Amino acid sequence: MPRPILATVHPQALRHNLARLRACAPDARVWAVVKANAYGHGIERVFDALRGADGFALLDLDEAQRLRALDWRGPILLLEGVFEPRDLELCSRLRLWHTVHCTEQIDWLAAHKTQQPQRVFLKLNSGMNRLGFAPAAFRNAWARLNALPQVEEIALMTHFSDADGARGVAHQVAAFEAASAGLPGERSLCNSAAILRHAQLPLHGGDGPTTLAADWVRAGIALYGAAPDHPQHRATDWGLLPALSLASRLIGVQQLQPGETVGYGSTFCTSVPMRIGLVACGYADGYPRHAPTGTPVLVGGVRTRVLGRVSMDMLAVDLAPLDAAGLACGVGTEVLLWGRSPCGALLPVDEVAHAAGTIAYQLLCAIAPRVPFASC
Ligand SMILES: *Cc1c(COP(=O)(O)O)cnc(C)c1O
Repeated sequence: MPRPILATVHPQALRHNLARLRACAPDARVWAVVKANAYGHGIERVFDALRGADGFALLDLDEAQRLRALDWRGPILLLEGVFEPRDLELCSRLRLWHTVHCTEQIDWLAAHKTQQPQRVFLKLNSGMNRLGFAPAAFRNAWARLNALPQVEEIALMTHFSDADGARGVAHQVAAFEAASAGLPGERSLCNSAAILRHAQLPLHGGDGPTTLAADWVRAGIALYGAAPDHPQHRATDWGLLPALSLASRLIGVQQLQPGETVGYGSTFCTSVPMRIGLVACGYADGYPRHAPTGTPVLVGGVRTRVLGRVSMDMLAVDLAPLDAAGLACGVGTEVLLWGRSPCGALLPVDEVAHAAGTIAYQLLCAIAPRVPFASC
């Protein structure tokens, strides 16, 4: 028998989440963001469930090639654009749309020899100060692109820094409206948090008033069933279902007396007699090493907690809640690290991430190559 850890992707949940996001932005087309190998789920594993999206957005040219190899003939957008001039040849060959966020990328396009004019998403830095043209440089960048025979169509985009938080998006929307006023072209602003929280806000500056959902939304984490604004909202508050479950089993049990310790560094010490279980899952599987004592976990469908330090291949869990309820458990009992258990019990990845001081995005992307995958 292989080591009992298993990650299961749930295609029905992906379809459901895509439909939920569409309902929030019914007039927009949806980019399904599948960067980082579909947030750790695997592009090939999510493709069929997400092929109802209008396009796929990602970063790596080899991921774009994998989508074309799956026979996806629709739009693909490179969210960081090209990294060097010769990437443009692949854009021509694979018909990739690409973000243009800096003058170097315009220079490369101007020097690119192609029969096939390309579609680009011109990116405004509306305040996040990551990628994009400053507002004062935006129109000039648009005019340069517009004059290039290599460019067929220019869409306008920006990215929000605080769609999930208290600062919100108004200041960046104002910057986008001012910089894009009167320019033709499709518009794209919203990530998951903005789709769920702000898609109905008005947007001016295009052909007519519209909403922030605009022409294209870019849905990432919510497709995978995590809440972009946890802990303010839970995934279930947004009607999202977990698209991935990480499960394992107990491979050992220890009976501890008061004063005994658990794991490296002896960070957990018992005060009463208790049974603990050892789970075949550790940080070499992608489980966060920083998950402290108290991090939630389901054993046999019952909610309990991690004890002591997570080690490379194992972690310890408290069996007291099961023992107190008279529920049998031992070597072989199912353990759910996050997601949905076979009996339907939920443990949101957001809760585990929160306990470990991080976000669901990081846990999902960190599932290690040694973890086998299934689909159901
Ligand atoms: C990753 C990314 C998204 C998706 O973000 P989520 O918060 O996962 O929805 C959208 N737009 C850009 C530019 C991105 O890089």
